[in-house]
Amino acid sequence: MRETDVVVIGAGQAGLSSAYHLRASGLDFVVLDANPGPGGAWQHRWPTLRMATVHGIFDLPGMRFDPPSPSARAADAVPAYFAVFEHTFDLDVRRPVSVSAVRDEPDGRLRVTTDHGDWLARGLVNATGTWTRPFWPHYPGQETFRGRQLHTADYRGPADFAGKRVVVVGGGTSAVQLLMEIADVAAATTWVTRRPPVFREGPFTQEYGRAAVAKVEERVRAGLPPRSVVSVTDLPLTPLVAEGRARGILVPRPMFERIVPDGVVFADGAHQPADVILWCTGWRAALDHLAPLKLRAPGGGIVVDGTRVVADPRVHLVGYGPSASTVGANRAGRTAAHDLRTLLTAPAPPAASPASTPSPAR
Ligand SMILES: Cc1cc2nc3c(=O)[nH]c(=O)nc-3n(C[C@H](O)[C@H](O)[C@H](O)COP(=O)(O)OP(=O)(O)OC[C@H]3O[C@@H](n4cnc5c(N)ncnc54)[C@H](O)[C@@H]3O)c2cc1C
Repeated sequence: MRETDVVVIGAGQAGLSSAYHLRASGLDFVVLDANPGPGGAWQHRWPTLRMATVHGIFDLPGMRFDPPSPSARAADAVPAYFAVFEHTFDLDVRRPVSVSAVRDEPDGRLRVTTDHGDWLARGLVNATGTWTRPFWPHYPGQETFRGRQLHTADYRGPADFAGKRVVVVGGGTSAVQLLMEIADVAAATTWVTRRPPVFREGPFTQEYGRAAVAKVEERVRAGLPPRSVVSVTDLPLTPLVAEGRARGILVPRPMFERIVPDGVVFADGAHQPADVILWCTGWRAALDHLAPLKLRAPGGGIVVDGTRVVADPRVHLVGYGPSASTVGANRAGRTAAHDLRTLLTAPAPPAASPASTPSPAR
């Protein structure tokens, strides 16, 4: 059994930012990460996601991310940057180590159970992101479909879709980007969204970003499962989007009603034949290993104040809800390290002396 002050689970942007600030706090800590190499979820992004097509990667604390070539794969460029960061700041990242559960110990510490033994800690930073929990909505008839169904997380590029009739589900940026790639090689594409997408002209200002984060924060404060920051923003009207609309590719249809063996059927009865359904339907927070701590509010979410879990101040969620972006994760890492230092270095309350003990009522 190994002991430390703080266990950080996850070595993506959120975990690395937390580790950087914990190092300065003087607390002892270790980072456990399930991936084989540095880069967090970025190492799994599809090969056609280039630095030119990501939203923008915020610098980790204390080290600039020198802009790689716009044509560089995000799955190569970001992990390379994270690797240099871990090395430069000599961060103790153990991998691949997968955490299966975090439980209470009778002495007030937390037991972190992994596939490489247990750790005991006084505090926890959970920075496990969302990539390992792709969200698949359920529609009637889904199991009868004879074609291929896959999620964005499984997408490896357009070549798999050559000559196929493809239905893309989802109104976010990933759906738009993948649809544009696939449309060049597919026999036909159909785009369906639950809500009509809103295209936004003009720059993504700081005020606009703050308003989006505030919407997510509101849900988290109410104890509801967070939606991603990206899901509450409109679709930027980029040159790619403008081209897709002009070419008739980005023309959304309302969500289909059911799935049949050879396609999908809309509310008006129209049948759309399909060989592939691609679910670009987002992700959920990967928090199953925290279930033994019973942190969830009745609404299904975990209520946090900043990054601190209201139900258990030893536990911080970084990269969760409003901090689920590279910039948000960065700031949240600093907040978590600061709060844990305050919690774990606070002097123990003085034991009640006999003189101050109230005399029992007669
Ligand atoms: C396709 C896509 C593109 C995006 N583009 C951008 C962008 O351009 N700009 C931006 O700001 N944001 C972007 N985001 C959001 C962005 O990815 C995240 O906000 C941020 O990178 C996530 O960092 P993270 O550290 O929270 O999670 P991750 O990078 O997912 O890291 C989590 C780490 O935790 C580990 N882990 C998970 N579970 C366990 C476990 N049980 N035990 C041990 N380790 C575990 C994982 O192995 C992983 O290494 C994008 C998201 C997606 C899906």
